[in-house]
Amino acid sequence: MFAEGPTCKLLNALKSPVQVYAEVGEHVLHLNSLIGKSLFLKSTGIAVCKSCLKKFEDLFRMGCCKKCFFESPLAGDSILRPELSTAHLGIEDRNLEHEKLFQLQPHVVYLAEAGHIKVGVTRLDQINNRWMDQGARRAIVIAQTSNRFEAGLIEVELKRFYSDKTNWRKMLSNEIDGRDLEKEAIKSQDFFPDHLRKYFKSNGKEQEILFDCSFFDKKISSVILKGKSEIEGELFGLRGQYLLFADGRVINIRSHEGQILFWKY
Ligand SMILES: [Zn+2]
Repeated sequence: MFAEGPTCKLLNALKSPVQVYAEVGEHVLHLNSLIGKSLFLKSTGIAVCKSCLKKFEDLFRMGCCKKCFFESPLAGDSILRPELSTAHLGIEDRNLEHEKLFQLQPHVVYLAEAGHIKVGVTRLDQINNRWMDQGARRAIVIAQTSNRFEAGLIEVELKRFYSDKTNWRKMLSNEIDGRDLEKEAIKSQDFFPDHLRKYFKSNGKEQEILFDCSFFDKKISSVILKGKSEIEGELFGLRGQYLLFADGRVINIRSHEGQILFWKY
């Protein structure tokens, strides 16, 4: 069967194991049912900017063309750096109404383990999605705030003790950080600055997440589809936003956001 369309991030549904869907044009592909089968992906050399919806040969960053990356609220500074949020002050970065909707809602700071323990920020209603997208095996909320800015300030402090990046190679290699996550969550309270400690959540429950991916002991190489390049092989597993092929090649679907890909499955 065939499908073609702009790449969206994979949809992960919290089941055991996580059920993964790819929206491709008019089709929704259930990727778990393709594991063990041959999958072919080819870049068409065309991409659609998620902000202006115009077509380009290539996008700049975050699924946007260069102009939109620097001007659209979909790529505003606070998306990658929550501490730069200004909507709580009524100050516009790119579009205040959009920023108010996005920033002025409950956020959480969490610890997640995907090869190593990292700290992150997300909207309260996005926690499971965020953890699944990152391929986290375990995660726990350590603070809840009323807006994005406050959560960002806590994250900045905790970055002195925990990475804020997922190490995708460790994650896909099934490396495990042996530390007890609930104990680490309690310990993290000591790292909060005094004026932010009121947001600490002492009763966070560890969420375990099981992905549809057996032990992957291959030498991993990451594939990026550009121009007219393609990848074909047996789909081995699914974790986060990655498809893992049986020969060790992996592809991060989210990093192809907006690119029109052709799928044969
Ligand atoms: Zn654009």
